[in-house]
Amino acid sequence: MSDAAAKPGRDEDAGKAARIGINAPIRAHELNLGFKYEISAMHDGEKLKQCFQCGTCTSDCPIARFSDTYRPRMIIRMAQLGLRDRVLSSDTLWLCAACFTCTDRCPQDVEVASVIRILRNFAVREGFMPLIFRELGSNILRIGVAYEIPELRLKKREIVGLPPLPKSDLNDMLKLANATGFSKTLKETERK
Ligand code: SF4
Ligand code: SF4
Repeated sequence: MSDAAAKPGRDEDAGKAARIGINAPIRAHELNLGFKYEISAMHDGEKLKQCFQCGTCTSDCPIARFSDTYRPRMIIRMAQLGLRDRVLSSDTLWLCAACFTCTDRCPQDVEVASVIRILRNFAVREGFMPLIFRELGSNILRIGVAYEIPELRLKKREIVGLPPLPKSDLNDMLKLANATGFSKTLKETERK
Protein backbone atom coordinates (compact mmCIF):
# COMPACT_ATOMS: atom_id res chain seq x y z
CA MET A 1 0.00 0.00 0.00
CA SER A 2 0.98 3.55 -0.58
CA ASP A 3 2.00 4.40 2.98
CA ALA A 4 4.20 1.33 3.26
CA ALA A 5 7.26 3.44 2.63
CA ALA A 6 6.18 5.83 5.34
CA LYS A 7 6.01 2.96 7.82
CA PRO A 8 9.35 1.16 7.76
CA GLY A 9 8.96 -2.51 8.60
CA ARG A 10 5.22 -2.57 7.84
CA ASP A 11 5.60 -5.38 5.26
CA GLU A 12 7.79 -7.29 7.65
CA ASP A 13 5.25 -6.81 10.47
CA ALA A 14 2.39 -7.86 8.21
CA GLY A 15 4.31 -10.97 7.16
CA LYS A 16 4.98 -11.82 10.77
CA ALA A 17 1.33 -11.25 11.68
CA ALA A 18 0.21 -13.47 8.82
CA ARG A 19 2.16 -16.31 10.40
CA ILE A 20 0.42 -15.96 13.78
CA GLY A 21 -2.24 -18.64 14.00
CA ILE A 22 -5.69 -17.48 15.04
CA ASN A 23 -5.59 -19.80 18.07
CA ALA A 24 -1.98 -19.10 19.10
CA PRO A 25 -1.40 -17.84 22.66
CA ILE A 26 -1.93 -14.09 22.95
CA ARG A 27 1.21 -12.02 23.61
CA ALA A 28 0.91 -8.69 25.37
CA HIS A 29 2.81 -6.87 22.60
CA GLU A 30 0.09 -7.88 20.11
CA LEU A 31 -2.62 -5.90 21.90
CA ASN A 32 -3.51 -2.62 20.26
CA LEU A 33 -5.72 -0.93 22.83
CA GLY A 34 -6.92 1.73 20.40
CA PHE A 35 -8.23 -0.76 17.86
CA LYS A 36 -11.74 -1.02 19.30
CA TYR A 37 -12.05 2.77 19.15
CA GLU A 38 -10.83 2.75 15.55
CA ILE A 39 -13.65 0.31 14.70
CA SER A 40 -16.22 2.11 16.86
CA ALA A 41 -15.53 5.32 14.96
CA MET A 42 -16.75 3.68 11.75
CA HIS A 43 -20.39 3.58 10.66
CA ASP A 44 -22.06 0.49 12.23
CA GLY A 45 -18.98 -0.26 14.30
CA GLU A 46 -20.22 1.84 17.23
CA LYS A 47 -21.62 -1.03 19.31
CA LEU A 48 -18.59 -3.32 19.17
CA LYS A 49 -17.87 -2.79 22.86
CA GLN A 50 -21.37 -3.99 23.83
CA CYS A 51 -20.63 -7.61 22.90
CA PHE A 52 -20.76 -9.79 26.02
CA GLN A 53 -19.67 -12.96 24.21
CA CYS A 54 -22.92 -14.91 24.41
CA GLY A 55 -22.07 -16.79 21.20
CA THR A 56 -25.48 -16.37 19.56
CA CYS A 57 -23.85 -15.00 16.39
CA THR A 58 -21.68 -18.09 16.05
CA SER A 59 -24.44 -20.56 16.83
CA ASP A 60 -26.71 -19.02 14.14
CA CYS A 61 -24.03 -18.38 11.52
CA PRO A 62 -24.49 -20.61 8.44
CA ILE A 63 -20.77 -20.47 7.66
CA ALA A 64 -19.66 -21.40 11.19
CA ARG A 65 -21.85 -24.49 10.89
CA PHE A 66 -19.63 -25.81 8.10
CA SER A 67 -16.27 -24.43 9.20
CA ASP A 68 -13.94 -25.59 11.97
CA THR A 69 -12.34 -22.16 12.23
CA TYR A 70 -14.84 -19.46 11.32
CA ARG A 71 -16.40 -18.00 14.47
CA PRO A 72 -17.90 -14.49 14.35
CA ARG A 73 -17.93 -14.34 18.16
CA MET A 74 -14.16 -14.91 18.13
CA ILE A 75 -13.60 -12.22 15.50
CA ILE A 76 -15.56 -9.74 17.62
CA ARG A 77 -13.56 -10.68 20.73
CA MET A 78 -10.26 -10.33 18.89
CA ALA A 79 -11.36 -6.91 17.70
CA GLN A 80 -12.34 -5.90 21.24
CA LEU A 81 -9.02 -7.07 22.64
CA GLY A 82 -7.06 -5.22 19.99
CA LEU A 83 -5.52 -8.21 18.23
CA ARG A 84 -5.27 -6.00 15.19
CA ASP A 85 -2.69 -7.74 13.02
CA ARG A 86 -3.95 -11.17 13.90
CA VAL A 87 -7.54 -10.47 12.96
CA LEU A 88 -6.69 -8.43 9.85
CA SER A 89 -4.35 -11.08 8.49
CA SER A 90 -6.75 -13.93 9.15
CA ASP A 91 -8.12 -15.73 6.10
CA THR A 92 -11.24 -16.68 8.04
CA LEU A 93 -12.31 -13.04 8.00
CA TRP A 94 -13.14 -13.53 4.33
CA LEU A 95 -15.47 -16.49 4.86
CA CYS A 96 -18.41 -14.32 5.99
CA ALA A 97 -21.26 -14.50 3.49
CA ALA A 98 -22.75 -11.17 4.66
CA CYS A 99 -26.14 -12.76 5.31
CA PHE A 100 -26.65 -10.58 8.44
CA THR A 101 -28.19 -13.39 10.51
CA CYS A 102 -25.71 -12.59 13.29
CA THR A 103 -26.73 -8.93 13.28
CA ASP A 104 -30.43 -9.83 13.40
CA ARG A 105 -29.95 -12.20 16.34
CA CYS A 106 -27.43 -10.32 18.49
CA PRO A 107 -29.07 -9.48 21.84
CA GLN A 108 -26.69 -6.56 22.29
CA ASP A 109 -27.42 -4.97 18.90
CA VAL A 110 -23.85 -5.40 17.76
CA GLU A 111 -23.70 -4.97 13.98
CA VAL A 112 -21.60 -8.11 13.67
CA ALA A 113 -21.72 -8.38 9.87
CA SER A 114 -20.85 -4.71 9.51
CA VAL A 115 -17.95 -5.01 11.94
CA ILE A 116 -16.63 -7.83 9.76
CA ARG A 117 -17.02 -5.59 6.70
CA ILE A 118 -15.10 -2.83 8.50
CA LEU A 119 -12.35 -5.30 9.40
CA ARG A 120 -12.12 -6.44 5.79
CA ASN A 121 -11.79 -2.84 4.64
CA PHE A 122 -9.01 -2.31 7.19
CA ALA A 123 -7.38 -5.57 6.06
CA VAL A 124 -7.34 -4.43 2.43
CA ARG A 125 -5.85 -1.10 3.48
CA GLU A 126 -3.06 -3.06 5.18
CA GLY A 127 -2.51 -5.17 2.05
CA PHE A 128 -4.29 -8.33 3.20
CA MET A 129 -6.66 -9.61 0.51
CA PRO A 130 -7.07 -13.25 -0.49
CA LEU A 131 -6.17 -14.03 -4.09
CA ILE A 132 -9.71 -15.05 -5.03
CA PHE A 133 -11.07 -11.61 -4.07
CA ARG A 134 -8.29 -9.92 -6.02
CA GLU A 135 -9.24 -12.02 -9.03
CA LEU A 136 -12.92 -11.11 -8.67
CA GLY A 137 -11.96 -7.44 -8.40
CA SER A 138 -9.75 -7.71 -11.52
CA ASN A 139 -12.64 -9.31 -13.40
CA ILE A 140 -14.84 -6.33 -12.59
CA LEU A 141 -12.23 -3.95 -14.01
CA ARG A 142 -11.64 -6.16 -17.07
CA ILE A 143 -15.14 -7.27 -18.09
CA GLY A 144 -17.49 -5.36 -15.79
CA VAL A 145 -18.68 -8.37 -13.76
CA ALA A 146 -17.14 -10.43 -10.99
CA TYR A 147 -17.85 -13.80 -12.63
CA GLU A 148 -17.46 -14.45 -16.33
CA ILE A 149 -20.36 -16.68 -17.36
CA PRO A 150 -19.10 -19.46 -19.66
CA GLU A 151 -20.47 -19.59 -23.23
CA LEU A 152 -21.90 -23.05 -22.61
CA ARG A 153 -24.05 -21.76 -19.78
CA LEU A 154 -25.25 -18.84 -21.88
CA LYS A 155 -26.27 -21.32 -24.60
CA LYS A 156 -28.14 -23.42 -22.02
CA ARG A 157 -30.08 -20.31 -20.97
CA GLU A 158 -31.10 -19.82 -24.59
CA ILE A 159 -32.17 -23.46 -24.91
CA VAL A 160 -34.44 -23.29 -21.86
CA GLY A 161 -35.92 -19.99 -23.05
CA LEU A 162 -34.32 -17.64 -20.53
CA PRO A 163 -33.72 -14.05 -21.68
CA PRO A 164 -30.13 -12.93 -22.41
CA LEU A 165 -28.22 -11.58 -19.42
CA PRO A 166 -27.94 -7.79 -19.28
CA LYS A 167 -24.61 -6.40 -20.49
CA SER A 168 -22.59 -4.41 -18.02
CA ASP A 169 -21.27 -1.01 -19.03
CA LEU A 170 -17.52 -1.32 -18.61
CA ASN A 171 -16.94 2.42 -19.06
CA ASP A 172 -19.34 3.28 -16.26
CA MET A 173 -17.82 0.55 -14.13
CA LEU A 174 -14.31 1.93 -14.65
CA LYS A 175 -15.45 5.47 -13.88
CA LEU A 176 -17.01 4.22 -10.66
CA ALA A 177 -13.95 2.15 -9.77
CA ASN A 178 -11.67 5.15 -10.30
CA ALA A 179 -13.94 7.58 -8.45
CA THR A 180 -14.21 5.31 -5.41
CA GLY A 181 -10.50 4.44 -5.39
CA PHE A 182 -11.25 0.76 -6.03
CA SER A 183 -8.84 0.52 -9.02
CA LYS A 184 -6.02 2.07 -7.00
CA THR A 185 -6.68 -0.12 -3.95
CA LEU A 186 -6.69 -3.25 -6.07
CA LYS A 187 -3.38 -2.31 -7.72
CA GLU A 188 -1.83 -1.68 -4.31
CA THR A 189 -2.92 -5.06 -2.92
CA GLU A 190 -1.56 -6.77 -6.06
CA ARG A 191 1.87 -5.33 -5.30
CA LYS A 192 1.90 -6.92 -1.82
S1 SF4 B 1 -24.44 -12.34 19.46
FE1 SF4 B 1 -23.77 -10.25 19.90
S2 SF4 B 1 -23.32 -10.22 22.10
FE2 SF4 B 1 -23.46 -12.37 21.49
S3 SF4 B 1 -21.31 -12.94 21.00
FE3 SF4 B 1 -22.24 -12.28 19.08
S4 SF4 B 1 -21.77 -10.11 18.92
FE4 SF4 B 1 -21.44 -10.69 21.04
S1 SF4 C 1 -23.15 -12.20 8.21
FE1 SF4 C 1 -21.33 -13.48 8.19
S2 SF4 C 1 -20.85 -13.84 10.34
FE2 SF4 C 1 -22.94 -13.12 10.25
S3 SF4 C 1 -24.19 -14.96 10.21
FE3 SF4 C 1 -23.87 -14.33 8.07
S4 SF4 C 1 -22.03 -15.44 7.41
FE4 SF4 C 1 -22.11 -15.56 9.65
